[in-house]
Amino acid sequence: MMYDINKVREDFPILARQIYGKPLVYLDNGATTQKPRQVVEAMVDEYYNVNANVHRGVHFLSQQATDLHEASREAVRRFINARSTDEIVFTRGTTESINLLAFSLGEAMVKEGDEIVVSAMEHHSDIVPWQMMCGRKGAVLRVIPMTDEGELELETLEGMLNERTRIVCCTHVSNVLGTVNPVKQIVKMAHAHDVPVLIDGAQSVPHMPVDVQDLDCDFFAFSGHKVYGPTGVGVLYGKEEWLEKLPPYQGGGEMIKNVTWERTTYNVLPYKFEAGTPDYVATHALAKALEYVAALGMENIYAHEQELTQYALERMRQIEGMRIFGDAAHRDAVVSFLVGDIHHLDMGTLLDRLGIAVRTGHHCAEPLMTRLGISGTVRASFGLYNTREEVDALVAGIEKVSRMF
Ligand code: PMP
Repeated sequence: MMYDINKVREDFPILARQIYGKPLVYLDNGATTQKPRQVVEAMVDEYYNVNANVHRGVHFLSQQATDLHEASREAVRRFINARSTDEIVFTRGTTESINLLAFSLGEAMVKEGDEIVVSAMEHHSDIVPWQMMCGRKGAVLRVIPMTDEGELELETLEGMLNERTRIVCCTHVSNVLGTVNPVKQIVKMAHAHDVPVLIDGAQSVPHMPVDVQDLDCDFFAFSGHKVYGPTGVGVLYGKEEWLEKLPPYQGGGEMIKNVTWERTTYNVLPYKFEAGTPDYVATHALAKALEYVAALGMENIYAHEQELTQYALERMRQIEGMRIFGDAAHRDAVVSFLVGDIHHLDMGTLLDRLGIAVRTGHHCAEPLMTRLGISGTVRASFGLYNTREEVDALVAGIEKVSRMF
């Protein structure tokens, strides 16, 4: 262990809670992570001592709030190693980031008969915005298939790329299977056909170092609340040359330069894509969250969670009737499973009575569930503060529930 996990856990007051008289075992980090004091206290401090709307004020507080907000943009830039803060657009989260991109890219460059490529294991947030845009533009959605182990079939992708392909959209890490996709290779393949790539980083940014220049992706989206930050804030990274080409998504507020009754001219990057008052308290708190995980070290978090996941897989595989979905060579801190014919909802509900928080259902990936031939799974997803004892509690819980059926 490269950081003191007991000390780290003390930063997260919620982890000390009892649920039905049992210590909370929080294994729903894929849905959202808990917040350290450093993040919550930054929000309270800003509301108590700094609060004023950003960008438009000459007064002291507005300047101070603006400075914090823009320093947060720099913190995000540094965290994902973007070239410039002009490439960091604040949004409400991954979902809004992708909706922004699907709309703007659709307006700029998609015509009837064009093709949008997504993968078989996308979250609804990286399917539906593209489907909606395809509907408006008469474009076609194409899907990279996957193997039974949960790995994307890259040879098939190669055959799918052509002069009608407008973008390839792929999740970095599957929120269901834990598969870490070879996104760098996908970017290379797409670029060979001059096709840009969006990576959905919702499930990678909290778990591993991410360097957008190294990946060479054109767009990258993630959510603050999944990386120990607040809800209501996320990021769309885009290469400057791409963002320059795209029209704004929403109108109003900071995205304008001049407005007359006849026409509006738009602000420079990244403000062109940021209509309305941003959640500047959340952006500041997000910077605190990134500072927090960076201090622990993303490599250390990755190593800790890899070890925990391997331990969980080993122990869970020994449970009678256990079916684990996803067996990719490179996988991350998510384990989706079913036991015998116990319904995922029953398993989740009974684990909850033992204080164990897991997610059940289709995990916003219904096409993937259809591919797997199931209606849903139980999903345990780990975070930087989870322990082997918690994995033991999960395994004991699953065994107890299994005996009841
Ligand atoms: N993509 C993936 C892979 C996810 O796991 C999630 C959240 N479950 C999202 C997108 C959507 O994130 P948000 O709800 O924060 O917009």
